[in-house]
Amino acid sequence: MISTRVKSVVPINLCHAPRFTVQSLFVSIWSIINNVQFRVQMATDIKFNASLSRTDPQVQPVLIIGQLRHLNLLKFSQLAGKLEPRVNEETFKNAIACLHPAPTDKCSLYLDVATVAALPLKASRHNTGSRAHSITRLVKNHVLNVNEESVVLVCERENLFASACAVVRAFPLYSRKTGNGNGGKSPSSEVGDGQPSRSVVNVEFVIIDKDGGVEQEPLSQDDINCLNETARGIRLAARIVDTPCNEMNVDHFIENVSEFAKELSIQPQIIRGEELRERGFGGIYGVGKAAAVPPALVVLSHEPKGAQETIALVGKGIVYDTGGLSIKGKTAMPGMKRDCGGAAAILGAFYAAVKCGFKDNLHAVFCLAENSVGPNATRPDDIHTLYSGRTVEINNTDAEGRLVLADGVCYANKDLKANIILDMATLTGAQGVATGKYHGAILTNSEPWESKALQAGRKSGDLLAPIIYCPELHFSEFASAIADMKNSVADRQNAQSSCAGLFVAAHLGFDYPGVWMHVDMATPVNCGERATGYGVALLLTLFGSHTSCGLLQSIAPGDEEPPSKRICRD
Ligand SMILES: [Zn+2]
Repeated sequence: MISTRVKSVVPINLCHAPRFTVQSLFVSIWSIINNVQFRVQMATDIKFNASLSRTDPQVQPVLIIGQLRHLNLLKFSQLAGKLEPRVNEETFKNAIACLHPAPTDKCSLYLDVATVAALPLKASRHNTGSRAHSITRLVKNHVLNVNEESVVLVCERENLFASACAVVRAFPLYSRKTGNGNGGKSPSSEVGDGQPSRSVVNVEFVIIDKDGGVEQEPLSQDDINCLNETARGIRLAARIVDTPCNEMNVDHFIENVSEFAKELSIQPQIIRGEELRERGFGGIYGVGKAAAVPPALVVLSHEPKGAQETIALVGKGIVYDTGGLSIKGKTAMPGMKRDCGGAAAILGAFYAAVKCGFKDNLHAVFCLAENSVGPNATRPDDIHTLYSGRTVEINNTDAEGRLVLADGVCYANKDLKANIILDMATLTGAQGVATGKYHGAILTNSEPWESKALQAGRKSGDLLAPIIYCPELHFSEFASAIADMKNSVADRQNAQSSCAGLFVAAHLGFDYPGVWMHVDMATPVNCGERATGYGVALLLTLFGSHTSCGLLQSIAPGDEEPPSKRICRD
């Protein structure tokens, strides 16, 4: 990845309006005790419940989160099972009445163990109606990390999936802190490791229907399964991204792919090391050949009977990016363990999609390499022939992601015969400049699919914003005197994220008749020091109509009219 990253700061923007009551004094004292006794971070299991379980907040703390307009619709009796006998109706009503979200607000209902929080009032057209990012922040800041607690999400059904995913993002798995419940061990698997100190977060829902009432039907088993598998996928992706390269090199990444493939009864196809060179994968081989651990192209294929379409997801898996000989500086390199975020998201999404009954052919293509420095490293000026047969003059070894992806998408077309190809990558620092910390950038040859991708972003909480697709104006940035193209642009001020994506498309061919989508998620891959698992929920939603899962189908973008009907004027 080419990085122009500025050190990011975790935003803390919660509104803490002072409330000087006797209760607040107790709350403060209790908070201090809590901090000492309980707030030791433990490995957390997330459990989705079909309906509200009856619990005493003294025993099982509860955090209730919703938009103010929904919280105002609630009757105390609908939440009494989570609050009695500690909270009465009057306290509940008074607490909701004193919430003034700007952008969020919270009020204690009982000591520190029962809290109600309001989400931002406004969600603009490029935001998710679920206010997912605020949910994650509220949960991160207000769960107590005790043995067992509950988060109750008050929301409309269309926001259930995004809201649930937002809670999941608050509980990353990877930690090497000693005494955190992992016993200092690496959490190589996200399932229970037998340590006694794991905590459980129960996630429960109060669904507000169209008429402002509360849905009485519990969630179906299908819904619960979907949420569980999605949560596993998100946490898997985030764990891989958070894991440093000394524990997540290409070997380890392949082990993770193989572990999940085994659960799905899929045999991974692995092309590795010198075989990459022999078979013409000059992009992946050229980027990874200097590393001690050889590069790999790994493919998982799900090919159910009756499949109508073939979808390939191609992920950039640079397990570490030093920049190669065009080396990054000492401030630009830290964090480059995250340069495999695209491949990690595709593993999580592929796993959950197959678990949710994917009905069409689905391939996951992992382009894995460590962009390292050594006697075998690719030099600036070297020319590589990629899997497409086209030649590339390397002018920047730090623009390596596009080289591995070019081989990946070309393989998806030539060998897998995919008619929809989506690649996902932490590709450019410029993505953050163009579309920010929350929105990945979507570049595509298809306007209907651009519209679908934007909708899927809003429905999943993994937001997207479109960037310009215009190869006839932009591709000349890669002009080379002696090869088909260079790998880095002449002018970095000229739609850099679009150009980087176009390099990938050039190897697929600009005349590729299928749908090509490119998601650059260099910045939303993490928030502060932690991975977000960005991309898993997005892909599940975008291709939700290809699954047999009712929940994913209900939020999948439809084949509606493109948003604009253009008028051509000469
Ligand atoms: Zn790079």
